[in-house]
Amino acid sequence: MTSRQEGVVVGGGQAGLAIGYFLADQGRRFTILEAADAPAAAWRARWDSLELFTPARYDGLPGRPFPGDPDRYPGRDEVVAYLTDYARDFELPVELDSRVVAIRGNDNAYRVELEDRSYDADHVVVATGPFQVPLVPAFAEHLDPEVIQLHSSAYRKPDDLPAGPVLVVGGGNTGFQIAEELSRLHDVHLSIGSRQMPLPQRLFGRDLFRYLEATGLMAKTTDSRLGQRMRDRDALIGSSPRAARRRHGIQLRARTADISGSEVRFEDGGRLSPRAVIWATGFRLDHSWIHPPVFDDDGQLVHRRGVTAAPGLYFLGMPWQHTRGSALLGWVKDDARHLAEHINTSSKPAHVPV
Ligand SMILES: Cc1cc2nc3c(=O)[nH]c(=O)nc-3n(C[C@H](O)[C@H](O)[C@H](O)COP(=O)(O)OP(=O)(O)OC[C@H]3O[C@@H](n4cnc5c(N)ncnc54)[C@H](O)[C@@H]3O)c2cc1C
Repeated sequence: MTSRQEGVVVGGGQAGLAIGYFLADQGRRFTILEAADAPAAAWRARWDSLELFTPARYDGLPGRPFPGDPDRYPGRDEVVAYLTDYARDFELPVELDSRVVAIRGNDNAYRVELEDRSYDADHVVVATGPFQVPLVPAFAEHLDPEVIQLHSSAYRKPDDLPAGPVLVVGGGNTGFQIAEELSRLHDVHLSIGSRQMPLPQRLFGRDLFRYLEATGLMAKTTDSRLGQRMRDRDALIGSSPRAARRRHGIQLRARTADISGSEVRFEDGGRLSPRAVIWATGFRLDHSWIHPPVFDDDGQLVHRRGVTAAPGLYFLGMPWQHTRGSALLGWVKDDARHLAEHINTSSKPAHVPV
């Protein structure tokens, strides 16, 4: 069965909801297709104790501030509740259990295919998230099956891991946060491949993001020199190798180089036989199901702030799509507004109900 929509948004996370808000405001006929069976699926799947590194003042989507003290750092479940209420209260047309398996077509005539149905649409916004496919090094498969290993996206809480040394691999925000939480119960080793610049969460009583806003750094775009430097060297917010060692007793290790049986080898020659390994080694995008020719020879999406060369096909919420904030709760609205304006000027007038 194929139905017609003016617009289709693929993904009902914060990016999908933010563009949905603007499309609804234009009075457009559209639907938001969400693969999961509940709203805010990506946040639901993150670890129990996760606290945002952005304060509530920077966690709101268009039209609704995040509730409560603007200086606090909300927890995972509050984000889930906020996004769920947002979709409901703005009556955004989210269809759950609706995984898109293919997008085909071109030039304002797209077919969006699901297993059981499809939609024809003039414009499609792909908002399937910045963190899609968990990445682990190939040598992870050599690890003895007796040693528990999981990607950070599958980690929930310290009690789930067995007693004995735990190795967390990855020196980004996720690796540090998980290592710090585990250090309360476990002997934790943190393997850091490349060091990120540590920045305090608060300075002189104010949150870091207030300074980044005030100095214009959050507005630096990916094609500016400073933007490129920020992009190449992400910041470690509220943690540092020194604090991890001194305050949390975490043992810092060099880059993980190889695995043989139950033994992990580090680049500096160090070795460890952990009981569990957590790979905080990031994610990659997967756009293999999107068929219009908007990718270069290396499979990289070619776009300008989410606008592709295929008229009517847009992307939203990718890391550094335009600025550092492009994949963050409080700033995704800027790119969403940009795309909504583009859709408005390049489409037919919005549907007016009679
Ligand atoms: C550990 C962690 C901590 C973070 N902390 C913060 C923070 O403190 N502050 C902040 O602002 N940001 C933070 N972020 C970054 C960012 O806000 C989140 O990653 C956020 O979830 C991105 O929202 P999104 O809507 O772009 O993507 P997602 O939330 O990933 O939503 C994408 C949706 O698309 C759906 N989907 C995927 N493929 C399909 C398909 N083919 N068909 C239909 N639906 C599909 C998914 O089910 C999902 O619901 C954090 C990220 C991580 C990983």
